[in-house]
Amino acid sequence: MALVDKIATLQEEMTLWRRDIHAHPELGFEETRTAQVVAQKLEAFGIEVHRGVGKTGVVGVLRAGRAEQGGRAIGLRADMDALPIVEANTFAHRSTQTGRMHACGHDGHTTMLLGAAKYLAETRNFDGVVNFIFQPAEEGLGGARAMLEDGLFERFPCQAVFGMHNRPGLPLGKFAVRGGPMMAGGAYFDIHVTGRGAHGARPESGIDPVLVASHISIALQSIVSRNVRPLDAAVVSVTKIYGGDAYNVIPQTAQLSGTVRAFTREVMNLIETGMRRVVKGTAEAYGAAAELDFRVIFAPTVNDANEAAFVADVCAAVVGEDNVNRNPNLIVASEDFSFMLEKVPGCYFNIGNGAGEGACEVHNPSYDFNDQALSLGASVFARIVETRLAPG
Ligand SMILES: [Zn+2]
Ligand SMILES: [Zn+2]
Repeated sequence: MALVDKIATLQEEMTLWRRDIHAHPELGFEETRTAQVVAQKLEAFGIEVHRGVGKTGVVGVLRAGRAEQGGRAIGLRADMDALPIVEANTFAHRSTQTGRMHACGHDGHTTMLLGAAKYLAETRNFDGVVNFIFQPAEEGLGGARAMLEDGLFERFPCQAVFGMHNRPGLPLGKFAVRGGPMMAGGAYFDIHVTGRGAHGARPESGIDPVLVASHISIALQSIVSRNVRPLDAAVVSVTKIYGGDAYNVIPQTAQLSGTVRAFTREVMNLIETGMRRVVKGTAEAYGAAAELDFRVIFAPTVNDANEAAFVADVCAAVVGEDNVNRNPNLIVASEDFSFMLEKVPGCYFNIGNGAGEGACEVHNPSYDFNDQALSLGASVFARIVETRLAPG
């Protein structure tokens, strides 16, 4: 283990920061306290701070060496938001806000990036610009897109951007990263079927939207099995189906809703096109009409192959090659750092949150970020900067 020495000495201080943020969780776009804590710390470290980037986002800019002449710049990103979960933990740093909880470890991500920022501001052993990107609202509310729409990469140009997320089940001290697709993209859909209402005993006088919705639900399962290449993983799940209010009434309308997951934009687009065909064609076959509303909430998280290899090498320099998995399984959950990776090449990677007992999954009311990972993650962030922007 080759932790950055000065960061190892920050372990206790970072633990206090992390537990303070854990005790004060805020939902997406409501991270005013968290953003304030982040901004004040960055300022205290001597870093230039920009508040309100993408509503509650914060960006810190640190220049060293010949950076003033322009040139090399990279971004490091952490997310800050919590989840609407009632925390089940009873330890001292448990949530003080009922129904709000840092159940995804974003308290830890924010702290690791702050730790790296403190170290880098003190040592400045690099040549270039580091943009510390503290993103709001990762959990489905579009915080990454809000920052991009606020001109993130125009105001803070980056040649590469890096994001780290903890993973329960991956042992402490281990990292996982792969080039190409890393996590799935996710879309939500609603299908509105319009038939013609009738008495339940006189179906011949109506057009039954419940029957049409049933056929659509089944036909949608042909898309992954018959249209998507067997080697391309994808999911289409109908998770809601509504129609009618009475035993003896054929309703006028019915509705289907659900989610789609895919690992490339191409497959996501292919599924959307297939769904439009199946929805329209099936409804027409029964004399009904149907409309599909398809919304991509998360793009697939796709790592640049070179940046992924670079991050894996940096992780190996810190924890040893044996502790870096360069070919982990694809993750079917989604992550909105994907939208930043569509603008700037980079890499999203996982840090172990611990295996075995206590390896509670994220989004679980008993989850907690593993403080032992703080100095590890901060060291990797720092080494990414010192390696990528090594003084020439
Ligand atoms: Zn989450
Ligand atoms: Zn998360």
